[in-house]
Amino acid sequence: MNHDVIVVGAGLAGLAAARDLAAGGADVLVLEARERVGGRVEQTALPDGRLVQLGGEVVGRAHTAYLALAAELGLTLIPSYVAEPGAIARATPEGVFAGDPPHWFGPGDDTCHRRVTAAFAALARSVDPDDPWSHPDATALDRLSVGDWLRSEGATPEVVRLWEIGQLALASGSYERTSLLSALRKHAAVPGSGDRGSDHYDYEDWEGLRVAEGSATVALRMAAALGDRIRLGAPVDAVTVRPGACTVRLTGGESLSAGAVVSALPVGPLRSVAVTGVSDERLASLHRQRQAVAAKFAAAYDKPFWRSRNLNGLSECEGVLGSTWPQNQGILSALVPPERYGVLLGIPSPLRRHELLADIARLYGEEAHQPVTTYLRMWGTDPWTQGYVTQWTPGDVMAVGPLHGTHEPPFYVCGSDQWVAGYMEGAVRTGRAAAKEALRRG
Ligand SMILES: Cc1cc2nc3c(=O)[nH]c(=O)nc-3n(C[C@H](O)[C@H](O)[C@H](O)COP(=O)(O)OP(=O)(O)OC[C@H]3O[C@@H](n4cnc5c(N)ncnc54)[C@H](O)[C@@H]3O)c2cc1C
Repeated sequence: MNHDVIVVGAGLAGLAAARDLAAGGADVLVLEARERVGGRVEQTALPDGRLVQLGGEVVGRAHTAYLALAAELGLTLIPSYVAEPGAIARATPEGVFAGDPPHWFGPGDDTCHRRVTAAFAALARSVDPDDPWSHPDATALDRLSVGDWLRSEGATPEVVRLWEIGQLALASGSYERTSLLSALRKHAAVPGSGDRGSDHYDYEDWEGLRVAEGSATVALRMAAALGDRIRLGAPVDAVTVRPGACTVRLTGGESLSAGAVVSALPVGPLRSVAVTGVSDERLASLHRQRQAVAAKFAAAYDKPFWRSRNLNGLSECEGVLGSTWPQNQGILSALVPPERYGVLLGIPSPLRRHELLADIARLYGEEAHQPVTTYLRMWGTDPWTQGYVTQWTPGDVMAVGPLHGTHEPPFYVCGSDQWVAGYMEGAVRTGRAAAKEALRRG
């Protein structure tokens, strides 16, 4: 069967691309390995009707592509956990402490934190997020880790620890192994971010909102409209690109043809697909990208019991869990960051739930051990994800190079890994951009 375009992968990026391609009049087919759509957005319903998000969950006011799509789909944006009353908690080997500044801060640390945050924001203003390679010091900035840069700026170990625990909470990889250029690029992608407050990661910009109907509903709505243009249970293992006649082979041998192919795969699974007919430089660039691996743990309770301790459910932790935050109506989300993923794998499966709940109990009390139910989603070792969000270790930005996020028609690339820093915004933004470019080229 011949199609105008085959989209590989039915995550947010692939669905957003296919939706726009279909709206533009293209005969489009989406091939998805799993038996469901959504990829890294996935939700399930509790018997009482509450939805639990097992993957991507919150967005921010700076996520304009995602917000525009949600509006087109008739979905409602409401404040996320950032509106929850109470204080943040931090769990470290010394104990659990609530509120700011963090308990390990001494005299001068707060001033130092503000100073390096301002220096970071100022440096970020010199980076073009669409072309970080053009920065006169690009190579040097990329070689430096954020941790090394902080120390070179005179940051105290206490300030470095605050930045680092924030990274554990986000689960996107230690700042000791994060390229400074990539961090500056991410910051620069959200103009004004961090200039308003004392933090280099503005939670309102990145995480202040969520879709009331459920984050995964964004994917489900797009999929419902695409109908039988999506084929589930169809893992792709080879793509041959030729002008006007591309071939996509499924595991099992079936071949499908199309005028163009849109890859909407995470970088890990993409490495397992044999792609021929595109330049060696492009393949090298795509294959050079990596992801931070993480797991998500969600515990559903009858009520948000952490409130009785004047806590908001938001935490930054140095345990197996790197963070918790209230998801919705008594449901607590938590992430296991890359630095702890191996520790999680080492816990015998039957003990994992208990040990993760023990981390939560340490923060919020013994009631944590009585959830209605829990979910543990091991995204880092899921064969169709192999990660969580895109990660840039020192040297990666230059090694991936300016081909990042670009196309080689009739081979188009999208997915959150093709944006500055992952996120659902990256998926929607790059998916729609790929469709626009493919339609423009007819
Ligand atoms: C636990 C977790 C929490 C997150 N939290 C947030 C958050 O709060 N906010 C935010 O903005 N982002 C968050 N993210 C990131 C965000 O969810 C992702 O960046 C985004 O959903 C990725 O979309 P995508 O379409 O690029 O890729 P994916 O969603 O990964 O879609 C790729 C699709 O390709 C399919 N596939 C893979 N291999 C093949 C193959 N060979 N053949 C066919 N199909 C294949 C996969 O099954 C999948 O459906 C989170 C991610 C995780 C895992």
